[in-house]
Amino acid sequence: MNENPAGFGGLQMIDEGDSAAAATAAPMAPVSPISPIAFEGADVSALSMDGQAGSHARVLIIGSGPAGLTAAIYAARADLEPLVIAGFVPGGQLMITSEVENYPGFPEGIDGPQLMAGMRAQAERFGARLVDVDVEAVDLSERPFRITAGGTRYTADALIIATGASAIWLDLPNETRLRGRGVSACATCDGFFFRDKRVAVVGGGDSALEEALFLTKFASEVVIIHRRDEFRGSRIMQDRAMTHPGIRIEWNSRVVDVLGEDKISGLRLRDTQSGEEREMPIEGLFVAIGHKPNTDVFADWLETDEKGYLVVHDHTHSGIEGVFVAGDVHDHRYRQAITAAGDGCKAAIDAERWLGEQADEAVATVPLPPVEVPAAP
Ligand code: NAP
Repeated sequence: MNENPAGFGGLQMIDEGDSAAAATAAPMAPVSPISPIAFEGADVSALSMDGQAGSHARVLIIGSGPAGLTAAIYAARADLEPLVIAGFVPGGQLMITSEVENYPGFPEGIDGPQLMAGMRAQAERFGARLVDVDVEAVDLSERPFRITAGGTRYTADALIIATGASAIWLDLPNETRLRGRGVSACATCDGFFFRDKRVAVVGGGDSALEEALFLTKFASEVVIIHRRDEFRGSRIMQDRAMTHPGIRIEWNSRVVDVLGEDKISGLRLRDTQSGEEREMPIEGLFVAIGHKPNTDVFADWLETDEKGYLVVHDHTHSGIEGVFVAGDVHDHRYRQAITAAGDGCKAAIDAERWLGEQADEAVATVPLPPVEVPAAP
């Protein structure tokens, strides 16, 4: 089962000032000389943010899902000694995925945590350092960038943001308990496990309609449960779902409880008009009521689109030079482990090239000794 768990929590801004303007208008300070990596307890006296002094990294990566760890592997192999702020619960969405069958290279499938442990070991093998704490604050107003995580202050010449996105859940206690046991937020990932089973999809937007249509490939019946009497999704998707013989729609219905001990066995539904409750036997529940990108700490520094996802320019570059973006935190279209990993690779290559350009510029601006012109004969 694949799950889209809660993600990078507890993030907040350092600076309540006009940071958006700073992000777009402030001229960037030249990159400072790069100091060697030094870890907890190191004396980094230049730091002014609250918290214990930490270390400086050429590349600091926030997030340890497929995007963050792939970026770490590439940055480490480029001798950039990346520091990964991996999160208090590291590994991202795949950590509560029992089986991944669509990640290339694993013909028999692989457990999500096993896949992530492999990526982590691979990153560490090449010299990446991982710290399993959440980021509390960032200051992107000047370089080096400043990051506070787990009460410690870090600085970085380049930053790769790979904090992912989190599925929005119904927020029911039994829904949480049965995640990975019949409750999912990703039909592409988990639909295969529901062959010839009766499943429900909650939601009325394009995601729910798309998930429901996808699930008809496997399930014996797909029931869309929507709280109103009309869908929010696009007309074409509505038409497809409403005319599909494998899909039944429960209008004006809310899921008020998820039933089952070791795995899901049914739902308790409430009619939103009459208030009447009823039970529906079901073997799978797909929650498709939207995703939330984990951008809270960056929202005032970096441009976000109308859905709150970070905006990238020119491949993986953000609006701030030296800040790169990878994975689901900007990508709400594909949201797959393999696409996130590819993005992490691209961000690390972009960061490496950008750092190289900074070094070249620094060399170019060093005053050259005066040329001695030989006297004319
Ligand atoms: P969405 O459009 O925001 O729809 C969310 C749906 O979930 C709505 O129908 C909403 O009900 C329902 N919902 C929200 N909170 C709920 C709750 N607590 N309990 C029960 N139902 C709840 O989200 P989305 O479907 O993920 O789509 C997001 C964006 O991506 C949209 O712009 C969509 O067009 C786009 N998208 C496009 C495609 C595609 O083009 N193939 C595929 C997927 C998504 P109400 O309608 O009553 O508010």
